[in-house]
Amino acid sequence: MKFELTKLEHTKNPHIKWVLSELEKLKKQAVGAANEELANNCWRESEALQLTLIYIEAFHKIKRREYREAWYDLERCEIKCQFVMRNSSEEFCISKNIYFIAHQVSNLQSLYPYCVFSSPGMVVGYYECGICNHKIRPRSRCAHVKGKIYNGKLCVHVARDLVLKEISIVSKPVQKYSVVHNDETLDFSVLEHLMVVLEEAFEEWDVIRTTKKFPIDMFCRVELESECPCKNGNKFGQCCSNKAEVEIPHLDFVFRRDVRSLPLDKFPY
Ligand SMILES: [Zn+2]
Ligand SMILES: [Zn+2]
Repeated sequence: MKFELTKLEHTKNPHIKWVLSELEKLKKQAVGAANEELANNCWRESEALQLTLIYIEAFHKIKRREYREAWYDLERCEIKCQFVMRNSSEEFCISKNIYFIAHQVSNLQSLYPYCVFSSPGMVVGYYECGICNHKIRPRSRCAHVKGKIYNGKLCVHVARDLVLKEISIVSKPVQKYSVVHNDETLDFSVLEHLMVVLEEAFEEWDVIRTTKKFPIDMFCRVELESECPCKNGNKFGQCCSNKAEVEIPHLDFVFRRDVRSLPLDKFPY
């Protein structure tokens, strides 16, 4: 069955649920009949469909300024993209827009102001193979490779006998769910500006990061004790306050459509 899935209204199509449940049924039959190729194809189709749904929803959550909810969806997309790409042909990924979604998810994540995450430090008793339940030990592994699919099922290593040892605060977390910030205190204006231009999740756009130099006079309102506008993490007074120019990070957005009329320039000082 063919149906369009690029816009938010398409995600409400009742056929989608039906297709997902049919894929699940077909996968079960394939597993029963020891047809691994068919079972894996069902997994791919189902994952690609769910990924597209989550991506479209995440995009529109950002448009509606539900930034935190969208962030969790983007993280789910990132993880799904990795597993689908690892287990599918290039042709499949192109036909299902997987590379496009992976690229745009990473672009959108990069425009978030989040930079502090909590990360639990766990001691794991042992890992178990999610496919055959084998207890994995240094000299005793099963034939299954973590992250690959077997009979339509993704192989994960399940951690058992977990003991929480500590919670640390990190800037580059393994998983991005545990944002420490309070969104109310953050500046989402870059995403907001971008979303003024973008209408749909599958529009092509990109972001180019450069720097721009501005004369020091433009920063006369920045206090010496506050963060330097050059964003290298130092205080203004110990960084660029005595320079003639301040070089600050600059974002250029590239769109397919002509959007020159939209006011996108913003100088925050
Ligand atoms: Zn195994
Ligand atoms: Zn500076």
